Amino acid sequence: MSETGSLRHGGTDVARTPLVSLVVPCFNEEEVLPLFLAELRPILGSVPGIRFEFVFVNDGSTDGTLPLLAAEARLDPAVRVIDLSRNFGKEAALSAGLAEARGDAVIPFDADLQDPPDLIPLLTERWREGFEVVIARRVDRSSDGFLKRETANAFYRLHGRLTDIDLPENAGDFRLMDRRVVDALNAMPESCRFMKGLFAWAGFRTTSVDYTRRPRAAGRSKFSGWKLWNFALEGITSFSTLPLRIWTYAGFLVAAGALLYAAAIAVRTLILGVDVPGYASLAVLILLFGGLQMMGMGMIGEYVGRIYMESKRRPLYFVRARYGGDQPPEPR
Ligand code: UDP
Ligand code: MG
Repeated sequence: MSETGSLRHGGTDVARTPLVSLVVPCFNEEEVLPLFLAELRPILGSVPGIRFEFVFVNDGSTDGTLPLLAAEARLDPAVRVIDLSRNFGKEAALSAGLAEARGDAVIPFDADLQDPPDLIPLLTERWREGFEVVIARRVDRSSDGFLKRETANAFYRLHGRLTDIDLPENAGDFRLMDRRVVDALNAMPESCRFMKGLFAWAGFRTTSVDYTRRPRAAGRSKFSGWKLWNFALEGITSFSTLPLRIWTYAGFLVAAGALLYAAAIAVRTLILGVDVPGYASLAVLILLFGGLQMMGMGMIGEYVGRIYMESKRRPLYFVRARYGGDQPPEPR
């Protein structure tokens, strides 16, 4: 273990042991949490020279998740629980966890053990080498179904084309972030939060390590196809205005086509005289351009809706209660 790590994170106080927070959003995870703790504790205990804390965010679970977590928090001072007032969704839960975490570095970690906890020592090692972001990249998604894999690939390609930020392919939320990065994220004011995009947008000195994603240890995925579609829309609209601007060019193209068509009709009428036009071509054109216009309006609507949501300046979530930890931080 190099001393540069503790020097960097503790200033001149070399003796101070760095603290790493594991932020775990939980929505109805009572089945998997005992497994989760049993698997993580020995791994975290085996990392020399680093203290760990768990920051569980209970995202409005309706099962026994909260009592289970609260009991853990009573027994173990390294466990803190942030109980949100309802289900706000994973992105908000993660934001809550990042705001409440006190570590010198933070690792968002899913409760379902799909990401291998044995990678955590490696992440902290790279962090001590001086990297501010250590991304855990899935090299193999065979635990996801064919459809989820293919749609995910298509999304990353499209996102890369449409936006300026480089979303690291196949990287989830599982990564280590230095305190500086977490502070930067906490300072981002938007309420439409596509965390992966915000992570990438923040920048900082970044490296990655590869791993294989496992199937869920227990319980079911909380993300349906429709939820993922909306998630993808959020990802694109949060970082690109291209879908809005494209309609200017579509309009130009259509107008130019219409002028050409008008000229063609005029010429044909001069040469062949007036014929009785069919209604089919008219009907097709009306439907086509009606459809195009609605798509354009819909796209604008996606953005206007988001402007509306942002303009309300509502908090991202409400905390009902906190469990564990000695001095709870100020509510935000
Ligand atoms: N999660 C959450 N709030 C939600 C949905 C999910 O906090 O509204 C948590 C969930 O408990 C898990 C993590 O987010 O710890 C990832 O969820 P899941 O495994 O269902 O997603 P997938 O891996 O299928 O994308
Ligand atoms: Mg999962």
